[in-house]
Amino acid sequence: MGRTELVSGSEIGDILEGSLAGRRPGEDECRRLLESDDVHLMGMVAGELARREFGGRATYVNNIILNYTNVCITDCKFCAFYRPPGAEDSYVLDLQQIESRVSAAVSSFGIRQVLIQGGHNPDLGISYYEEAFSMIRSKFPAVGVHGLSASEVDMIARVEKSSTREVLSRLREAGLQSVPGAGAEIFSGRVKEIISPKKISGDEWLRIMREAHEEGLPASATMMYGHVERAGEVASHLAEIASLQEETRGFMAFIPWNYEPNNTQLKEEGVGRRAGGVDLLKMVAISRMMFDGLIPHVQSSWLTNGVGMAQMALMYGADDFGGTLVGEEVVSCTGARSTELSGAVITGAVRQIGYEPVERDNFYNAV
Ligand code: SF4
Repeated sequence: MGRTELVSGSEIGDILEGSLAGRRPGEDECRRLLESDDVHLMGMVAGELARREFGGRATYVNNIILNYTNVCITDCKFCAFYRPPGAEDSYVLDLQQIESRVSAAVSSFGIRQVLIQGGHNPDLGISYYEEAFSMIRSKFPAVGVHGLSASEVDMIARVEKSSTREVLSRLREAGLQSVPGAGAEIFSGRVKEIISPKKISGDEWLRIMREAHEEGLPASATMMYGHVERAGEVASHLAEIASLQEETRGFMAFIPWNYEPNNTQLKEEGVGRRAGGVDLLKMVAISRMMFDGLIPHVQSSWLTNGVGMAQMALMYGADDFGGTLVGEEVVSCTGARSTELSGAVITGAVRQIGYEPVERDNFYNAV
């Protein structure tokens, strides 16, 4: 049976044929995709969409993650990284430590991006971030500052008794160049109430991202799946991101990643199943179809699924391998096997599947 017969004979054949003809699935169609087991057909179609757009090229960025503090008052139940204020093993990196980490990574790896993320630390005012960002931009001009999440921006605004827009504007002036998509999880209020009741709502995440886009700060969008969410809630999450993107065009990339249960409160409360490789491939394929022609890049999510699954993800619709992520500490706290890679390992893995690796900068430009 050829591809055309396979597609048309499937229960989701109408959606897949629409995708190949340039029609993105709507929210109801997305839910049907999520409820279908035809993952390999979805991957065949999504992989075709990515190859049409990128011609078998896969980008990656040499970067480090600076997890600047693990102090957090938001207590997300899926998080193994944070510590309450005053905990013995809590930390905050000072300006000197940030500079020496970036400096070492520039000389050892030639990094193009520093991804800056941390807890919601009530003791850090905006000047901490302004000083760090302006130091990095002035001392290491080839390194892009991709920093904070919508919820960290909200925390800084609360510390400063300011607005999130004012915070974004000041941080951009200090050197912030783009905003990671963390903190989105699943927008549904029901899900947030279970997994992260103290965190900003989905509507607030979308509002802050809209403000970032309007301030000239491009961003990533994310979804963390594989816990208590339902298909309709995932479909709604993706549809809301697509809807904002239709207005602002501010998202550069979408990254689906799975919940890692180890060492988390949520696991203690009985949510201990970890999503597997097929779940990842399905999410990547559906993301490519949902955002085709709208959000340019879909990442492979190697951090939680390993290099082998990232190779598969590239064949199922992802076009960006992600970053080398040297220094990552958040996912490491769940005991995930490997949380950093070298550029050589990434280029080798990409070549192994017959794709061409392309190093990129913070803005997805080839370098
Ligand atoms: S995910 Fe972020 S906001 Fe939530 S507890 Fe962990 S560090 Fe804090």
